[in-house]
Amino acid sequence: MNPDQAYAELIRLSRTESILSSCAQLLQWDAEINMPRRGVEHRGQQMGLLAGLAHERATDPLREELLTVVEQSPLVADPESAESVNVRELRHDYDRATKLPRDLVEEMARVSAMSSQAWAEARDKNDFAAFEPWLDKTFDLARQKADAFGYDDVRYDALLEDFEPGMTAAQLTPMFEKLRVELVPLVDALRDKPAPQVKGEFPIERQRELSEGIARTLGFTADTGRFDLGPHPFCSFIGPGDVRIALRYRADDFSSGFLAVMHETGHAFYELGLDDEHYGTPMGSAVSLGIHESQSRLWENYVGRSPGFWRHFYPGLQREFSDALSTVTIDTFRKSMNRVEPGLIRVEADEVTYNLHIIIRYELERALLDGNLTARDLPDAWRQLYQQYLGITPPDDKTGCMQDIHWSEGLIAYFPTYTLGNIYSAQIFAAADSDVGPLEESFAKGEFAPLREWLREKIYRHGRRYKAPQLVERATGGAADSKHLVASLTQRYM
Ligand code: ZN
Repeated sequence: MNPDQAYAELIRLSRTESILSSCAQLLQWDAEINMPRRGVEHRGQQMGLLAGLAHERATDPLREELLTVVEQSPLVADPESAESVNVRELRHDYDRATKLPRDLVEEMARVSAMSSQAWAEARDKNDFAAFEPWLDKTFDLARQKADAFGYDDVRYDALLEDFEPGMTAAQLTPMFEKLRVELVPLVDALRDKPAPQVKGEFPIERQRELSEGIARTLGFTADTGRFDLGPHPFCSFIGPGDVRIALRYRADDFSSGFLAVMHETGHAFYELGLDDEHYGTPMGSAVSLGIHESQSRLWENYVGRSPGFWRHFYPGLQREFSDALSTVTIDTFRKSMNRVEPGLIRVEADEVTYNLHIIIRYELERALLDGNLTARDLPDAWRQLYQQYLGITPPDDKTGCMQDIHWSEGLIAYFPTYTLGNIYSAQIFAAADSDVGPLEESFAKGEFAPLREWLREKIYRHGRRYKAPQLVERATGGAADSKHLVASLTQRYM
C-alpha cells in the first residue's frame, strides 16, 4: 500500500470510530433527557456494545501497519500540516490504547462500576469506612495504569495525559502554588465584604426563553443546536451541526441558570467552531479538557458577568422580571452575581474560592497516588487543607472528602483541568481584548461576533494541531500563567 492510500485508510478508520462514538453520545444524551427509567438495563447493553466495538477498532493492529507506512513518507515532512498532525495524534492514541493490558481495562471498568455505587451509598450514609477499601483499590489500579502507560518523571503525568495532553505535574505544581499563595489572602479580604442579594420570583418558563434568547444573540443558532431541561447542566456534541445543551433553572434565583447557559454555550461554541472538513480526525477534535473548560469559563465569567454585557441585556431582563427587579439597579444586580463566600461544596463555589477546592484535590490525589497518603487518612487530610486554605472545616465526610464522584469512577488527574480552564480563560480573554477590544464596548452594543471570530481563529480551528500549553502560548503571546486570573479576580472583586 502506498502512503497516500495508507493515509486515506487511516482517516477513514478515524472517522468511522468518531461516528461510532457519536452514536454512544446520542444514546447517552437520550438516557439523561428522554429515556424512561426502566430502559436503563437495555441502554447499558447498547452502550457496552458500542464501547467494545470502539475499543476493538482503536486497537486493531492494521493501524500499526498503516501508521508505519505513512510515518516513513514525505506526507509528514511539514510537522504542522494537517497530515502530520493527524498521524502524530493517531499514533499517540493508538500507542496509549494498546499499552493497557486487556485484563487491566476490564478490571478498571468492573471496579469503577462497583466503586461508584459504593460511593453513592457511603456518601448518603456518611460512612467513609464503607468507601475506603474502594478508594484504595481505585488508586492501586491507577498506579498499575500509569505504569502500563509509562512516564518520564512522576506517575501522575501518565494519568494527566488522558485529560490534558502535554501537561505535567512539574508544570502544574508551581502554577497552582503561585495561585494558591495569592488566592488565600484575596479570599480572606473578600470574606467580610457583603454582596447584595437579589430576592424574588423568576418563573422558570420565562428564564428559559430569556436565557435561550441571549444564547441566540451570542451566536448559538437554532439550526445547529437545541436546549432541553435536564437533571444537571451539560453540553453534548453529537456531530457537526448538532450540539445539545441541557439546563436546569431555579425559580428563586436567576443567576445560577443563566450562568450555566453561558457556560454550556461556551462549550458548544468550541465544538461548533472546529473545522467540519476535519470532522472525526485529530485536526477536527478538541485538544484538552482544560482548553474546553477555558471556553465555557470565558463566556460565563468574562462575558456573562461583564458590565458591557448587562448594559445591553439588563433593561430587557428588568422588564421581564419587573416584580423582582424593578427597583434593583444594574450595579446591584451584577454585584449580586459576584458573591464570594468560602463554602464546603465545590460545585456550589464562587469564582474566587473555586480554585482552592481544586488545588486541595490536586494535592490530595497526588499524595494518594504516590502512596504518601493512605485512603484511611484522607478525611483528616481533607479537613486540614480546608481549614488551612478556606478557613472552614467540614463537619462530616459527606460534605468533605466524599462529595465528588470523580475518584470513585477512577477519574484521577481530572480535577486540575477545571483550574487550568480558569487560568487559560483569563489569559485568553485578556489577549482577545487587546487584539480586538475593548470587548466591553462590543458587548454593550450586543455584538459578540468579534470575540467569536477571534476564538475561532486562535483556538477552535486548530483542533489538536498544538498541545494545550503551546496553543495558549501561540494565542496569547506568553506561557500559561495564573497571574492573569489573579489580576482579573482582584480587579473585578476588590
Ligand atoms: Zn464545563
